[in-house]
Amino acid sequence: MNTQTDGLLIVGEDLCEQLVGRSQAFDAVQSVFAAMASGGARNFPVIREALGYADALYGFKSGFDRDGQVLGVKSGGYWPGNADKGLTNHQSTVFLFDPDTGQLSALVGGNYLTAVRTAASSAVSIAQLARKDAKVLGMVGAGHQSAFQLRAAAEQRDFEKVVAWNPHPDMLPRLAAVADEIGLEFEAVSQQELGAQADVIITITSAFEPLLMKDWIKPGTHLACMGTDTKGKMEVDPELVTSATVFTDEVAQSLTIGEAQHAAGTGALTESAITPIGAVINGDHPGRTGADEITLFDGTGVGLQDLAVASVAARLADEAGLAQRVAL
Ligand code: NAD
Repeated sequence: MNTQTDGLLIVGEDLCEQLVGRSQAFDAVQSVFAAMASGGARNFPVIREALGYADALYGFKSGFDRDGQVLGVKSGGYWPGNADKGLTNHQSTVFLFDPDTGQLSALVGGNYLTAVRTAASSAVSIAQLARKDAKVLGMVGAGHQSAFQLRAAAEQRDFEKVVAWNPHPDMLPRLAAVADEIGLEFEAVSQQELGAQADVIITITSAFEPLLMKDWIKPGTHLACMGTDTKGKMEVDPELVTSATVFTDEVAQSLTIGEAQHAAGTGALTESAITPIGAVINGDHPGRTGADEITLFDGTGVGLQDLAVASVAARLADEAGLAQRVAL
């Protein structure tokens, strides 16, 4: 895209939803994870601050993908009062810049893209790490993200059934409707039963204490722990983390704000025991090496994922002539 002559591209939420499907998001996220692991792409330090206004959290996630020529920042955060105003509590916008000149090239709505890139992340981990014969998908969590995670995960293996548990059971029917829509049997179960049945488990909650214990998980299970993205959060037993082979999007985040922060904090898990999933994608790490191995993907959420999908949205909108253009 020649941004210098073409001006600024504006790609709103509706266009993102129309143009960026699960497969585009999967490919973009898988490529950028690979680039991160090979040194071709790098996330910059995250800023996240309490505003002291409207109970809001606000911040920036930024990075540069030299391989993919994507430079930018996602700005946004969490406004808990938004639901009462008919708005999503999480609000974000991606700013893309021309890496050759620093000129602003695109403004892209980040709300839908955040959901689809997070779903792509656990889907990539399932594609790379789950047993090929996985049949039962376990869902822990039934909020906004869970439906996106379920749809993307369902495309990675020949799943026959979804077992689900949520701390707020009244939210489960929404997830059951998604399973029904994609033709999967659905059963609401206890946490122990979920561990006993599931071959692949996605956790996507806002928990601060373990929801799944080590002894409940079957050998050979793949877990994608997606909810823990802040210091203090926790979704699974730290002993489960230390007993698993651990993969992540970014090791630095896994150790500080991801699911591994607790096991790392006590010294039970060392940095060298955590593998960037990009190394598996690149063929530099074998990934799963046995049918009984428990693999755990600590999906912390990195800015480069946002930039990758936003760049796809900007390119597709530009090619289709659908986005608004503004002279700089
Ligand atoms: P949501 O508010 O729609 O749903 C919240 C979920 O967490 C529900 O299942 C709810 O029952 C559960 N929950 C709420 N409070 C809880 C508590 N105190 N203990 C245990 N469970 C609790 O949120 P969402 O959009 O579905 O996102 C879920 C989580 O995923 C959030 O914590 C969010 O920060 C995280 N997230 C992570 C990434 C990433 O890239 N890793 C991206 C987006 C969201």
